[in-house]
Amino acid sequence: MHYFDYRDGELFVEDVSLNRLAAEVGVPAYVYSARTLRRHFTVFDQAFAGTDHLVCFAVKALSNLSVLRLFAAMGSGFDIVSRGELMRCLRAGADPRKIVFSGVGKTADEITAALKAGILMFNVESGPELYQIAEIARGLKMRAPVSLRVNPDLDPGTHPHISTGHRTSKFGVPLSQLAAYYTRARDLKELELVGLSTHIGSQITEPGPFREAGQKLAEAVRAILAQGVQLKYLDLGGGVGVPYQDESVELGDYAAAILGPLRGLNLTFIAEPGRVIAGNAGVLVTRVLYVKETDVKRFIVIDGAMNDLIRPALYDAYHAIWPVTKRPDAALALADVVGPVCESGDFFARDRMLPLPRPADLLAVMGAGAYGFVMSSNYNSRTRPPEVLVDGSHWHIVRERETFDDLIRGEKLVELKPNGQ
Ligand SMILES: *Cc1c(COP(=O)(O)O)cnc(C)c1O
Repeated sequence: MHYFDYRDGELFVEDVSLNRLAAEVGVPAYVYSARTLRRHFTVFDQAFAGTDHLVCFAVKALSNLSVLRLFAAMGSGFDIVSRGELMRCLRAGADPRKIVFSGVGKTADEITAALKAGILMFNVESGPELYQIAEIARGLKMRAPVSLRVNPDLDPGTHPHISTGHRTSKFGVPLSQLAAYYTRARDLKELELVGLSTHIGSQITEPGPFREAGQKLAEAVRAILAQGVQLKYLDLGGGVGVPYQDESVELGDYAAAILGPLRGLNLTFIAEPGRVIAGNAGVLVTRVLYVKETDVKRFIVIDGAMNDLIRPALYDAYHAIWPVTKRPDAALALADVVGPVCESGDFFARDRMLPLPRPADLLAVMGAGAYGFVMSSNYNSRTRPPEVLVDGSHWHIVRERETFDDLIRGEKLVELKPNGQ
């Protein structure tokens, strides 16, 4: 469900015409719908109604300050994976007591900053990290709230790059070692053992893997409680998929699948959704530069590129591509939609049937709200697009288009002799 729709053949974001928006801010541009973000957050939150829970939006999916501020105002917590994300949350006005810190490689600086900020808990992923956190807490004369992230060893059947719950992945500690970890952690008095966490992957559109994760977590929690450890939080991770193409995702089914096996455990559940909240709340608007016909293929060359949205190149991800203005006379044609970057991986769609656009037409790359702008780069010395947040009939530029000065910021022009020293 999202608020991108046609009115008289013209694509609108809520009550704002994308044509008019593009005329004012230029293209390529990321455009987000606040109403969609709010709705997704609320529906997700309500899927957990009746259980003690905290939704912690996964900042890495969409980290613009204004978006984080909107979620903070709705009572959201945040799942962070770096110091930069911690600083973003604090700048956006987040409550540090609702921040969980995930990731396999937290540095000493990051742990220190998060401890000083007073976050809810660290999701710990290895023995050495446990000792590192204890040592830093000792130095600060503080106690660190920790949760162990378990790797439940299951295969959610998604792209291998976004699957994190198999025993061969770098994430989490093995189920078989969990009891030993809790024993070790209990002996470290600088640590406060508050939870158990997991995160099995991303873009999971079937309830099966979540049910399996719930079952394994339930077993693990019972074993831990039997050890005499008092847990407060059970962090279920993120991973709920979105319909990019024709997948269907029912949040009620997801919640029932993962919570079913966990009923009766007197714990506060934490969920860390990213994609399911932000994915279909954003588009990348681009302009057609050229339509090129070779002997075997047709290419629609647009001014957006893999540096703006890398998901197709990285995961072979599918994004729907909609004309911003429908042409009633446009014939359906088979084409590749590609960007200007010097890589064959620079594509948005391959062998896609779509209404054949003309040069200067605008196209909206749909489903670009999550893992879109946040993964963008300056490759090919391209300035990154602006981010625009639409709310009803209003819109706000929440990040400016980069300039050449942004592109070379921090670079030094060192003069070397052509023939060496
Ligand atoms: C990436 C990530 C998430 C969010 O995943 P989505 O698939 O976007 O919901 C949640 N938790 C952790 C630990 C993550 O690394």
